[in-house]
Amino acid sequence: MDEVDLKSLVSSLTPQEENQSIKSYQNTVSVACPACDEPFEDLVVCKQNPTSLNLSLQLDLCVGVEDDRALIFTHRH
Ligand SMILES: [Zn+2]
Repeated sequence: MDEVDLKSLVSSLTPQEENQSIKSYQNTVSVACPACDEPFEDLVVCKQNPTSLNLSLQLDLCVGVEDDRALIFTHRH
């Protein structure tokens, strides 16, 4: 499996929120998810391990890893 190229991915995305444990980006340009090739809504980069996510919505998630950081791609339907 190819590794996710976080830098080139993030360069297309809009930074949204950052705190101690996560950094999130909004996908405003319909970049394809590396896991399922469908455009994702948001990318969440986990900066701490382990990290808890408090999601307020029911979402489909795809997960990747880059440099030991978890990447979470959210999909809304
Ligand atoms: Zn996906």
